[in-house]
Amino acid sequence: MTQAKVCFIGAGNMTRSIVSGLINNGYPTELVHATNPSQAKLDALHADFGIVVSNDNVKAAEQADVIVLSVKPQLMQQVCEQMQSLNLSNKLVITIAAGIPAARYSEYFNQSINLIRTMPNTPTQLGFGMTGLYADNNISEVHKAICQQLMQSGGKVVWVEKEEELNQVIALAGSSPAYFFLFIESMIETGKKMGMDEAKARALAEQAALGAAQMVIQNQDLSLAELRNNVTSKGGTTAQAIETFEQGDLRGLVDKAMNNCVARAEEMA
Ligand code: NAD
Repeated sequence: MTQAKVCFIGAGNMTRSIVSGLINNGYPTELVHATNPSQAKLDALHADFGIVVSNDNVKAAEQADVIVLSVKPQLMQQVCEQMQSLNLSNKLVITIAAGIPAARYSEYFNQSINLIRTMPNTPTQLGFGMTGLYADNNISEVHKAICQQLMQSGGKVVWVEKEEELNQVIALAGSSPAYFFLFIESMIETGKKMGMDEAKARALAEQAALGAAQMVIQNQDLSLAELRNNVTSKGGTTAQAIETFEQGDLRGLVDKAMNNCVARAEEMA
């Protein structure tokens, strides 16, 4: 693990997720700094992880080797403009914001910077994250390796060749934990309607989801259709449920949802 000094600008949900992964993997607490206007959020992060916290973005960024921009996209310009007086030529800047194109950050900072765009998701907080990474050709291998090490502490990473592929990463991984939450939530609601108590319905649905994900991961030689067919006897109960999903065009709905997700990411750019 690299010993770079890392500063997170913005101490919200995603920073918490990434910091949690870093600290749980043994990253030195004194090398991790987070800033935020809310003292309550800073106190909570410090109490939970022992990292350095402050409300001074510029000073924190000045002292860091790696600056992770972790504020909402609509605040990004203002936050970067605050740092225009810093010399960023030797620093690595990592952004986790959806939508904003890489080229725009040099305008915001009013200088050329070493920028890597990343698209993480919230399971990063448990070490089961998936992060898409994109770097321009001018980014050094050393900076790429540092970024990869940092983001890998929360799970897996995938480099994309073209910047626009990051929008597909959003549809497949950034936003998709919520799709699965919705599916499990719907199953629990029906379980309750059938008369089961909520805790039991949740225990059954969540363990089935975990088991299904493990079967996909541990059977790379089998296609998803093969896995599905292996548990779907002709004329049986699973076949009845799957047929209902197909008749209701679940695939079409997933296709529409993911395309709308990408379209929204493009609009935000
Ligand atoms: P969040 O609202 O939880 O966190 C942002 C934090 O920034 C807040 O705590 C806010 O108080 C703080 N902030 C506001 N102004 C600030 C300033 N001037 N200086 C420093 N901090 C300031 O949002 P989040 O969900 O953590 O998202 C952060 C970024 O991560 C966004 O750009 C989002 O697009 C991206 N992202 C989020 C997800 C996700 O699943 N939530 C996934 C991938 C990427």
